[in-house]
Amino acid sequence: MAALTRIACLGLQRQASITRLFSTSPGVSSGLSFELTPEQNEYQQMARKFAKEVIIPAAPHYDQTGEYPWDIVKQAWELGLMNTGVSPECGGLGLGILDDCIIAEELAYGCTGIMTAMSANGLACAPVSVAGNTKQKKKYFGRLTEAPIMAAYCVTEPGAGSDVNGLKTKAVKKGNDWVINGNKMWITNGGVANWYFVLARTAEAGVPASQAFTGFIVDADLPGVTPGRKEWMMGQRASNTVGVTFEDVVVPQENVLGEPGKGFLYAMAAFDRTRPGVAAGAVGLAKRALDESTKYSLERKTFDTPIINHQAVGFMLADMAIGLETSRLITYKSALEIDEGRRNTYYASIAKAYASEVANKSAADAVQIFGGNGYNREYPVEKLMRDAKIFMIYEGTSQTQRIVISRFIAEAAKKMQA
Ligand SMILES: Cc1cc2nc3c(=O)[nH]c(=O)nc-3n(C[C@H](O)[C@H](O)[C@H](O)COP(=O)(O)OP(=O)(O)OC[C@H]3O[C@@H](n4cnc5c(N)ncnc54)[C@H](O)[C@@H]3O)c2cc1C
Repeated sequence: MAALTRIACLGLQRQASITRLFSTSPGVSSGLSFELTPEQNEYQQMARKFAKEVIIPAAPHYDQTGEYPWDIVKQAWELGLMNTGVSPECGGLGLGILDDCIIAEELAYGCTGIMTAMSANGLACAPVSVAGNTKQKKKYFGRLTEAPIMAAYCVTEPGAGSDVNGLKTKAVKKGNDWVINGNKMWITNGGVANWYFVLARTAEAGVPASQAFTGFIVDADLPGVTPGRKEWMMGQRASNTVGVTFEDVVVPQENVLGEPGKGFLYAMAAFDRTRPGVAAGAVGLAKRALDESTKYSLERKTFDTPIINHQAVGFMLADMAIGLETSRLITYKSALEIDEGRRNTYYASIAKAYASEVANKSAADAVQIFGGNGYNREYPVEKLMRDAKIFMIYEGTSQTQRIVISRFIAEAAKKMQA
């Protein structure tokens, strides 16, 4: 079945590139439509089937053991559900960010820990997409499409997460090479990655962030690269979160991304490509919370009637539906903006903040609807509540998203006044 579906997927790839040629060329709006294309419907069905048949049955095991879901990653890779944004020249499907979101929502419905493990490759690739040259893309994206291997995005450090300007990892130019020293923290896929995007300081203190950092592609097998132990997290335990130490790691000049000094800009621009996908993951979790709660409220009776008939319960379901539908819409918009060649930072931050908060509220309400059972590991919703929280923290906390959004509001207001 895997081989057949992969063939189907490659067929979709060809159709997708043809469709893209005619319908989504950068800068040309296809108009307002809430319909998915036939290809997008097919990706959605394929990812939905994969979540139902492969991810959902295995998710409790990976959640409880914290094992890395290699088995599932390999199957998803076979089917073409990973690295979907990599261009056909580098062996990928060349799908857009919206396509990616449609797939991410379905995978997240199955298990957001497994989805995060799979989609962290997209985060590692994003700065390379933004600033990498053709040789770098062919080499490092090519690896991901030639075999089911992982990559990771190394920015956060023990002392600095939201405040990226506070990073201490340094890179110093020595001859034709760069030598990197520092410690990264909370790196998704850090312990299983084949290569890393690493952001390091290359200027003295006082230089503005936009000129002070350089982005590097670092092979994980270089001497001096040491991943730490897997961190035992509240949720999304299938994903591998570790610290990574870089000690006198010698990186060749050819692995510098774009212009030296501009790494901060590339690392931040990467989020325009990835935050819609994170929001889509949160949407998938919210949908699962709604579905599980609806099913349960139809079965569970109190006072001689299914609990869905109690207005207090029905309204919780209605609020979940309101959040689900609206967070999906803003997620799609944030993705479509960048697919159509427009800057989407503002929408991506709104989508990420909103969808992650909807997911948390929905998961907490799902636990409430399940009552005592909701607090028990035998039922699916306590995992949803644990898994949901990280959506408000990684790839920029909810507070960071509001900083971005409010800056855009201020800029727009100033332009109006000028
Ligand atoms: C499971 C997991 C996976 C992760 N994966 C990756 C990864 O793959 N790569 C990577 O580089 N990083 C990763 N991270 C790191 C993540 O992006 C950071 O944890 C996040 O950006 C917050 O940084 P911090 O933890 O240092 O919190 P801090 O920056 O210390 O923030 C602490 C609190 O203060 C608030 N705060 C900070 N500054 C402000 C401000 N100016 N105004 C208002 N509130 C503020 C924050 O919102 C937060 O609530 C991951 C983290 C986790 C937990």
